[in-house]
Parts: sequence; C-alpha cells; structure tokens
Amino acid sequence: MAGDPQADCLFCKIVAGDVPATIVHENDTTVAFRDINPQAPTHVLVIPKAHYPDAASLAEQAPQLAADVLATAGQVAAAERVDGTGYRIVFNTGGGAGQTVFHAHAHLLGGRGLNWPPG
Ligand code: C5P
Repeated sequence: MAGDPQADCLFCKIVAGDVPATIVHENDTTVAFRDINPQAPTHVLVIPKAHYPDAASLAEQAPQLAADVLATAGQVAAAERVDGTGYRIVFNTGGGAGQTVFHAHAHLLGGRGLNWPPG
C-alpha cells in the first residue's frame, strides 16, 4: 500500500533504525539526518517516515506529509543557523536529475554560497 515500508529501501531502514544515521531532528512523520557525503557545511536530508518513491508521488498521494517535510526542513535550517544567510531545498527527482535513493527526500544545503543555476 502507498506509504508502507519497503524491504529493499535504504531510507526505510534508517527510519526503522536498522541502518545507522546521524539524526538531527525527528517528529511523528519525518526524520532529518546528516548526508554521509556532504556537499555543503550543512547538508541534511529530510525524509517522510512513510515510503513514497519521489517528491512528486509524495505530494500527489500525501500532500500534508509533503508539507511536513518542508516544515521540518525549515526547522532544521533554523537550528543549523543557516536561515539568516539563505539555504537551498532540493528534491532530485528521477535518475537523470541525480536521484539515487528512491524514497522521497529533501536535501537541505547551506553554510556556503550556492551558485545558480545548479549543476
Ligand atoms: O538525491 P539523491 O537520491 O542522489 O540523494 C541521496 C543521498 O543520500 C546522497 O546525497 C547520499 O550521500 C545520501 N546517503 C546518505 N546515507 C546513506 C546513503 C546515502 O546520507 N546511507
């Protein structure tokens, strides 16, 4: 069923505590943890606890949960003190855009200058 944990999903395993992660924030519906390959001084992934393969399916099937992910990203940005200088929230969607883990996740990037357009 939509949202159910997937046995072969790395981020579902992080939600379950079966794969270690450095968790910086957790609430009833979302988890935020540091990216293991950080691309900025602050690089945190914010995920819904429920499994949706990408941001588009999350927004379509569980819009309140998509809002929760964005709200958590904002709270983490404030806690990391990158909200004053600006930060970026990125949802890579599809392999051609660099998505490698098919459990919806927001990259929160901050703590350095961020170029536009992105690579
Ligand atoms: O957008 P994309 O799917 O490529 O993002 C996946 C992210 O998950 C990568 O930035 C990768 O470094 C991160 N990752 C992680 N912990 C893992 C496996 C991947 O933070 N155990």
